[in-house]
Amino acid sequence: MSEADPRRLIPRTDHLLGMPQARETELGADAVRALVHDLQERARAGELPPEDVEAAFLAALADRRPSSLRPVLNATGVVVHTNLGRAPLSDAAVDAVVAASRYVDIELDLATGTRSRRGVAARAALLDACPAAEDALVVNNGAAALSLATTTLAGSGDVIVSRGELIEIGAGFRLTDLIISTGARLREVGTTNRTHLADYADAIGPETGCLLKVHPSNFRVEGFTAAVNLPVLSEVAAEHGLPLVADLGSGLLRPDPALPDEPDAATALAAGADLVIMSGDKLLGGPQAGIVLGRADLVQQLARHPLARAFRADKLALAALEATLNGGPTPVARALHADPDELRRRAERIAAAVGGAPVVQHDGRVGGGGAPGFPLAGWAVSLPEEVAAPLRAGQSAVLARVTDGACLVDPRCVPPAEDDALIRALAAALRAVRP
Ligand SMILES: *Cc1c(COP(=O)(O)O)cnc(C)c1O
Repeated sequence: MSEADPRRLIPRTDHLLGMPQARETELGADAVRALVHDLQERARAGELPPEDVEAAFLAALADRRPSSLRPVLNATGVVVHTNLGRAPLSDAAVDAVVAASRYVDIELDLATGTRSRRGVAARAALLDACPAAEDALVVNNGAAALSLATTTLAGSGDVIVSRGELIEIGAGFRLTDLIISTGARLREVGTTNRTHLADYADAIGPETGCLLKVHPSNFRVEGFTAAVNLPVLSEVAAEHGLPLVADLGSGLLRPDPALPDEPDAATALAAGADLVIMSGDKLLGGPQAGIVLGRADLVQQLARHPLARAFRADKLALAALEATLNGGPTPVARALHADPDELRRRAERIAAAVGGAPVVQHDGRVGGGGAPGFPLAGWAVSLPEEVAAPLRAGQSAVLARVTDGACLVDPRCVPPAEDDALIRALAAALRAVRP
């Protein structure tokens, strides 16, 4: 390196690491070091002037958090948005997570000082919310609950399921592959559009472990269709002494009049399902979790399976689930039941605040594989399509819905307390596209 080589000017590691900002950051030493080396590399490669390295380092320190996940205002109108982490937690659940993030009595009886069973409180809250269930088990997610149920009940035997219910639910995740991966055999009956009672009855044999009914959550078969409903199926199951498992997917515990076609645990159990399975972070509005409800002997059989330990829910999820069930309306419930007139007033106020954009009728969606195609009547602010990108990239990120050449901003899933933040984000994005 010659005297004149500008690379001589690249700040040294010791100098950068010794800066007060580098010692005060929440980032760990390894992350700070990686940042320093990355900037020095870029300066050596000529991508960054050496004299700018120090400022770039300070800017990166100010910008970086230990977790890179960024909050997003969901202005899509899709309530359970999988790419945005499904259900946002209620305040009660957030408080419970914060409390549970320290040492907690998750497996300790403080009165006696002896070991207690993990998850008892979440179990009790589930049984209070769904008295039709004799017992409940919480695992890591819906997929874990389903594989635990099929592997426990069928082993290497048959799981009988209708062809019309063999679904793929996003990111290439197929229920069929999941069930087969546990070693069970999938015995598909009927056709895509029609499955009859005789199809199930003919398939039952000495190898059958259980009957499975899956809520085809993200699509609908319309037209010339036939399916066997739970009450009829449960008679066949009972006749042969076989358990009937209903995978409900999205997770209503009780019927919701706003979603008339959405199955729920209480109804499914009353209709004869022996076990129902659902996710915690879809319509239930809680943390990621898989919930199993139903016959006590079967739930306990699942809980004793060695895989139950591999699938167990963590303390944060258990705390959030209990608080979700015991607390008031969840953000998901509020968004689902939002009053269209109120949504219109909010959309109009937001539109006026950003210079009078048009307000249009806009149907929200349940999302997350619930109530496919079911419209939730509402309103949105219609902006030019080009604002969508600066909205996503803004100081507080906003995800809107781009359709038919417009960027639609739907307030349904934005907490009303965030309307002013939304307005500021919209104004900044509009300035970015029309300077
Ligand atoms: C979402 C869903 C699952 C998977 O649940 P996760 O909690 O995402 O693991 C399984 N079955 C059905 C019918 C679903 O809708």
